[in-house]
Amino acid sequence: MPGPLITGFSIRIASRAEAPNSESLPPLLSVGRPVPVQVSGDKLRWSGWALASSVSVPATSSADGVTVLLAGELYHRAALREAIGPAASGVSTDAELLLACWLRYGGPGLRLLNGRFAAVVTEGTAAVIATDHAGTVPLYLRRGVDGIEVATEAKALAGGAVGRIPAAHPPRTGSVAGLAGVRRVRAGVALTVMVGRPAAHAVATWRPPEHRVTWTEAKAVRRVSAVLNDAVRERLDSGPVTVPLSGGLDSSSVAVLARGAGAVVETISLGTDAGDEFAAARIVAEHLGVRHREFQVRGVDLLRQLPWAVAAAEITDAEVLEYLLPLVVLYRAVPGTGRRVLTGYGADIPLGGMHRATIRLACLDQVIATDMQGFDGLNEMSSVLGGLAGHWTTHPFWDRAVLDVLVALEPGLKRRHGQDKWVLREAMSDMLPEATVTRPKLGIHEGSGATSVWTALLRDSGVAERDVPAAKNAMATAIHRRVVAQAQPPDAVSFDDVLREVTAKPALAVGL
Ligand code: AMP
Ligand code: MG
Repeated sequence: MPGPLITGFSIRIASRAEAPNSESLPPLLSVGRPVPVQVSGDKLRWSGWALASSVSVPATSSADGVTVLLAGELYHRAALREAIGPAASGVSTDAELLLACWLRYGGPGLRLLNGRFAAVVTEGTAAVIATDHAGTVPLYLRRGVDGIEVATEAKALAGGAVGRIPAAHPPRTGSVAGLAGVRRVRAGVALTVMVGRPAAHAVATWRPPEHRVTWTEAKAVRRVSAVLNDAVRERLDSGPVTVPLSGGLDSSSVAVLARGAGAVVETISLGTDAGDEFAAARIVAEHLGVRHREFQVRGVDLLRQLPWAVAAAEITDAEVLEYLLPLVVLYRAVPGTGRRVLTGYGADIPLGGMHRATIRLACLDQVIATDMQGFDGLNEMSSVLGGLAGHWTTHPFWDRAVLDVLVALEPGLKRRHGQDKWVLREAMSDMLPEATVTRPKLGIHEGSGATSVWTALLRDSGVAERDVPAAKNAMATAIHRRVVAQAQPPDAVSFDDVLREVTAKPALAVGL
């Protein structure tokens, strides 16, 4: 099975009995087979839908009065099983492993999990709603007088079936534009809510390391190789994997490690008439001897799919959307569904790769610390980006153990001998062509032309240079209102119409 058993859900948990799944399917963008969620516990009743890989997958797992729903997957399962002991020996699914973990450790057991998941656990009248360390399967909540609604996409909670309780917002949650009462559970959080009552409390299950380690070059290189290799292996199953390949250091590292672990790897690259990295990707694909495919779209057709990227990431930040749009377009273009996709996404955040001009180590370490504080809520690694095309994506560089190592390295190991991301380049130097190991960073938004094409379209519509960033955000916000707050299908929203609406506004003509 290429993806997890369950990839998303939209559920309601109430203290009273509900009519069994009277509601129609929620407007989730992720593709999967809807399986009904129906649990009648002593105190709480669950209803709703989960997206599963097959209709025969049970949505929830229960034992000893505890019920678990897990969207996504766990990594480092063997070590977790060993920690849990005999109770884990008979379990087969990740949901059962989480249940066994809970029965041994209770809520604090969530701190043991390294995975890509969103989970709901109920025991008694308490519901615990948990994200993975980086919140990579986004999780949204709405509380009401008679129950709570929880979903892996905010749009599923648009409209809102529960009467709201006038209470303070639950801790460690954030707002969602255009959806009053809907809260996003922050990354690395286990939030406990008492169903039907205002009480709520949260615990942090992970925080980015704030200390730094002073390892020798040799030790740092060894540890980075080992932890990244583990993370790639943990993300493989027995089937083939697809790697979106730019030919840059990060995606090439993932591809070569997956190949080295014995996986059948296929690499895919996206380019437009405004830019591509095809030549660089080809060097790596040829070096690895893997099947490689290039997808070429017109720049304007890339931008026309922006409603899909907004609907998937459920954000309004145009700068982040420029990174995510090419990936969404690529996931939609690649034939078939059900691929397991390993990306090189995110390596630059702990290593400071975007800050290659930052020479001073004090500055470099500070921007890395700031970026690690600020990733939450950007939804850059949302599973919905690939889920909308029926693929399961996963990002080895944001494995919890990899982050723990990369973030904590003293900055002189990240910038060294005049090179950015030195430790990773060194770790990969025996495995990749020299041209790849030394290749300067090019962001996906630059390589694919996403940024320049969007800018050109706005400039052609009369937007002044200085107003371009604001116009992009205004477009993203207008699209978000429709595809998230109003839950319209992305195909119902025209990029060209939104461009006309936004550029017709007098506010832009006079400067924002
Ligand atoms: P970057 O912004 O370059 O760090 O890109 C993040 C990730 O997106 C890379 O590690 C690749 O997995 C993927 N990627 C970037 N550019 C492309 C591209 N042109 N074609 C396919 N995948 C890409
Ligand atoms: Mg790149």
